[in-house]
Amino acid sequence: MKYTDFCDYCGAEYEPQRRGVQRFCSNSCRSRKWQLKQKNDQLTIIDEAKVPVTEPSKPMAKTKITTAAIGNAAIGTAAVDLTKHLLTPEPKRNATKEDVRKLSSIIKGQRYFPVRNMALDHLGRNPLYDIETETIIYK
Ligand SMILES: [Zn+2]
Repeated sequence: MKYTDFCDYCGAEYEPQRRGVQRFCSNSCRSRKWQLKQKNDQLTIIDEAKVPVTEPSKPMAKTKITTAAIGNAAIGTAAVDLTKHLLTPEPKRNATKEDVRKLSSIIKGQRYFPVRNMALDHLGRNPLYDIETETIIYK
């Protein structure tokens, strides 16, 4: 009794030369099957490659930065800076332009600074800020 098998590619019944090893009726069917497998593997690779591209797009959409978000972030940063400034004790604050101006005046020997938002006293003297005693005096 002859042993026969069916070709893995074309499905034709054939008599294998090497029983149990041969899967195709001919070399052409074997190579076509191999080419088909290569093509399928490539398609599989492309499909797998698509997965990381499409999957992170969902989390990315959540963190999508809008112009409004940048504006809010800027306001947030400004608010943080202001809060930091308000909460920072005077000695730890960075010198402001006013501080520098006062300092340079002190170096130049100036102790009193005119106070512009106070009225003259009853003797008509100008209100001055004494930088050493940190009080208002009239001269
Ligand atoms: Zn075949």
